[in-house]
Amino acid sequence: MELVALPAFADNYVWMLHDGQAALVVDPGDAGPVFEALQRCGLQLRSILVTHHHADHVGGVAALREATGAQVFGPAREHIPEPLVRLSGGDRLAPGPATLGLAFEVIDVPGHTAGHIAYWCADVDGSPVLFCGDTLFSAGCGRLFEGTPAQMLASLDRLAALPPGTRVCCAHEYTLSNLKFARAVEPGSADLLHYTAQCEARRAAHQPTLPSSIGLERRVNPFLRVREPAVAQAARAVDAGAQDAVGVLAALRQWKNEFK
Ligand code: ZN
Ligand code: FE
Repeated sequence: MELVALPAFADNYVWMLHDGQAALVVDPGDAGPVFEALQRCGLQLRSILVTHHHADHVGGVAALREATGAQVFGPAREHIPEPLVRLSGGDRLAPGPATLGLAFEVIDVPGHTAGHIAYWCADVDGSPVLFCGDTLFSAGCGRLFEGTPAQMLASLDRLAALPPGTRVCCAHEYTLSNLKFARAVEPGSADLLHYTAQCEARRAAHQPTLPSSIGLERRVNPFLRVREPAVAQAARAVDAGAQDAVGVLAALRQWKNEFK
């Protein structure tokens, strides 16, 4: 199975899984790069997985479905045009033609949007894969457009508890700017310096920094580290009210929104 990040717009990725014949894509905000990849590799599109309702994630769905007959899966509680198989946390996609023989588990991850879901597969050629949309980014998290800090913390905790070897497929290439913020939060972190150098080299070579992994994110992502004393202390320096883990996450998110 191939796992490919198709660049779209300025900094989106449409993730594609394919076995050389059939493909599935996640969050095709733009149909163009998907059509191009299907044609170039001679693939048939079987399904489209959607994580949330934002235009940069669903903009290409209708054109792809009409041209290929692919089945569309998406969140139960968001406004997304039909036809759509509506999913929520705990639902499973059974292995079958639409899933390229893979089994996916749906996880509710509200925060960025109210009905945001993620897709986790325990075994893609021996290791797990997570499609998390705009909830978890490498070294960062999505903005809280429709949810509360408490919801986002619960969603991130849920993702952080997945096996460390899980490949994390985020929908945006935000890693370097997230890492700049992460270094401001934890200036003493050797992991951050090492990972930043790695990501700078990848971007210089025009390669994605993704997928990341859950194990790596637990070491470098301040939003998964709100219970670390150094992170909590940094949050309290910008917001004295940041007492518990939810308060720390809220303070970090606010600080990041204003961070240059
Ligand atoms: Zn979004
Ligand atoms: Fe997005």
